[in-house]
Amino acid sequence: MKRIQGWGNIQTDYPVPESARAYLENVVGKPHQLHNSSISALLQKVPASRLPTHPLISTDPEVRLRHARGQSLNDWVDMFDGLVNTFPDGVAYPQTDTEVRQLVQFALKEKLNLIPYGGGSSVVGHLTPPDDGPPTISVNLAKMNHLLAINEQNLEATLGAGISGPQLEAELKKHGFILGHFPQSWEYSTLGGWIVTRSVGQQSYHYGRIEPLFVSGHLETPAGPMDLPNFPKSAAGPDLRHLVLGSEARMGILTRATLRVRRLPEEEHFYAAFFPNFEIGAAAVRKIAQSELALSMVRLSDPLETETTFQLSGEEKLVNIAKKGLNLFGQGQDRCMLLYGLTGVKAQNRLADRQLANIVRSNMGMMVKFYLGKAWMEKRFLTPYLRNTLWDLGYALDTLETALPWEKIQSGRIAILDAIRHALEDENETVLAFSHISHIYTNGGSMYITYLYRRSLDPHQTLARWRKIKGAASKCITAMGGTISHQHGVGLDHKPYLHLEKDQTGMQIIKNIIKTVDPDQVMNTGKLIDVD
Ligand SMILES: Cc1cc2nc3c(=O)[nH]c(=O)nc-3n(C[C@H](O)[C@H](O)[C@H](O)COP(=O)(O)OP(=O)(O)OC[C@H]3O[C@@H](n4cnc5c(N)ncnc54)[C@H](O)[C@@H]3O)c2cc1C
Repeated sequence: MKRIQGWGNIQTDYPVPESARAYLENVVGKPHQLHNSSISALLQKVPASRLPTHPLISTDPEVRLRHARGQSLNDWVDMFDGLVNTFPDGVAYPQTDTEVRQLVQFALKEKLNLIPYGGGSSVVGHLTPPDDGPPTISVNLAKMNHLLAINEQNLEATLGAGISGPQLEAELKKHGFILGHFPQSWEYSTLGGWIVTRSVGQQSYHYGRIEPLFVSGHLETPAGPMDLPNFPKSAAGPDLRHLVLGSEARMGILTRATLRVRRLPEEEHFYAAFFPNFEIGAAAVRKIAQSELALSMVRLSDPLETETTFQLSGEEKLVNIAKKGLNLFGQGQDRCMLLYGLTGVKAQNRLADRQLANIVRSNMGMMVKFYLGKAWMEKRFLTPYLRNTLWDLGYALDTLETALPWEKIQSGRIAILDAIRHALEDENETVLAFSHISHIYTNGGSMYITYLYRRSLDPHQTLARWRKIKGAASKCITAMGGTISHQHGVGLDHKPYLHLEKDQTGMQIIKNIIKTVDPDQVMNTGKLIDVD
């Protein structure tokens, strides 16, 4: 069963090794002993529902509590520290397009707000019911989770939008296919959520982001049902799929989608390499991107992330041996770890591996073919559980991300990390922050930053600290010319920065489209953009 507070399945844990606790205490400071709000205390906060009765809607307080928030840091403080103060008034689990349409009609008639709910893994406040807004229905699409059609000739599959990552791949695997979209939230996030937030999977370099995978689909909008046509390619005016991608539920509820799928790969491997410092590593990664090697994943950690990964591995002896070996080969304390994936047919993988090794070696790098890549792969959906354990220890952990052109990757990284590290100086608090490049393009890469700071005894202060860090980082990102989000979307947290990259006309166009599709504003009001 899914946790009400924190990430993931209640039965899964990722303990923090003793040595890592000492490392964190040393770097960030001794954490405070804190107590989480009990579930019964949270349940007492759920007010009476304001909804008229409807056969599809449950007003059970626990169900409403479970849909009250996502996974942003603000959401965590709300749920763990009992600050949560807005709840959906009811939750519906529709099973068909007709039922979704009935809910949209009900919202229009009763002047309600609808928030579709996929896996609840949003990290930017997509799911928060508005403060003093109309009654809200959370529309959970979990029952629309079937494989509806498969077209082996065209390599396409049509699936219900509420299907989760593991369900989707299990269904496709039965037919010898794979989608290959693996965001780190894969265990719970859903097809509909991926499309409307423009998500990116870890192996996007081979499988592509969600955008090129999304072929067509069906939406229930307040203006009526909408079918997106399916063509291999069309030049017939603007592509309506782009209204749905990144729409964050403002355009309606996606009920199903047709996707490009592939045949299962012949083999897959993950390996590591090291570079003496980030600048050299980033230059090598740019060369990899511009040589268009047939890799499935490329991820370059900076020195602090490389060291923190070692510390959190819990493999103290192995790490010490590895460090000695790396030092001997010129990979000293500024070393940066590159993880890469090979996915596909053997001959192509062998060629890509050789080409990569040439680039690594000609950039003072060193290949490490054992343990590290495999260990990363085996733990890749387990690592988010570390956030739960760290929270319980007294540390708040969050991530943010952007994409920058190659010429700004290094200066941007330093500037954003500096902004984050100095954000709590006025409180004499240290913020541990590190980064990696994880999605690469010929003209730039994504920069993903993880930061950790001490929770305060006062939850409002924990939240205020997060706001300071997030504000400083967001200002720095936009000042550097980076996008406010490469993959997490806009939601509430990035809304103040959207206008900086869309310009006035662009903002007006987005507002006008929303007004046309949803003139009465019943779809996820207040998220993405304010429509007056
Ligand atoms: C631990 C963790 C790791 C993550 N890793 C990644 C990552 O690697 N890459 C990445 O891109 N993101 C990542 N994310 C962010 C998040 O998982 C993605 O934004 C994901 O696409 C959200 O999908 P979801 O199904 O959980 O959507 P939800 O969180 O349920 O909803 C997100 C938004 O989509 C809307 N929505 C959901 N379903 C529909 C639908 N059918 N129709 C219309 N609107 C809908 C909701 O109303 C909401 O506005 C991560 C999050 C966590 C917590």
